[in-house]
Amino acid sequence: MVKEKSLILIKHDGVARGLIGKIISRIEDIGLKIIAMKMVWANEELAKNHYKLDEEWAKNVFEKTKKARLEQGDEFQFEDYMEYGKMIQSWNINFLREGPVVAMVIEGPHAIEIIRKIVGTTEPRQSPPGTIRGDFAMTESYALANDKQRVARNLIHASDSVKNAEHEIALWFSEDELHEYSKELDKHN
Ligand code: ADP
Repeated sequence: MVKEKSLILIKHDGVARGLIGKIISRIEDIGLKIIAMKMVWANEELAKNHYKLDEEWAKNVFEKTKKARLEQGDEFQFEDYMEYGKMIQSWNINFLREGPVVAMVIEGPHAIEIIRKIVGTTEPRQSPPGTIRGDFAMTESYALANDKQRVARNLIHASDSVKNAEHEIALWFSEDELHEYSKELDKHN
């Protein structure tokens, strides 16, 4: 289906830095429709369900970080991708519970691909200017985060597939919190 939904979280670094409005503007400017929104301080169960340890995800995080750190001339001393994934997962769960986040569901044609494009890469240091992570968090890096034993603070979460979006939306929102309404931009989509 061309029209997709995605779960967006403005993570606590975005909330604490006062970037909620700027991030929402980017989403609206690009022509995506916000169909649900609320501020949530996640409990442990929600945080654990959102950041479930999945083998494919762990492998991807491990490979992505290893490639970046070696290319950046750093060392990468980890060997077991599941162990590495477990460490990042626990950092993510802690960070998600550090303070309230803004949760949203956005909808639009190719929403998942488009929102990930405007969000930027996982490591803000690699995110090009013009992206949310590149414009507002570029000094954040894997090196800094890993040295400090914490998550890479990259302001925003966006679902990475239709399947994951469905799962994540159901975790954060009930059916009656998702709204259907028309906007001027619908005429252009
Ligand atoms: P994305 O949010 O870009 O889809 P991932 O799903 O790969 O990224 O990872 C989830 C989150 O875990 C990232 O947004 C980031 O905050 C954190 N993260 C990923 N890799 C690392 C790492 N090597 N060090 C610290 N935090 C990381």
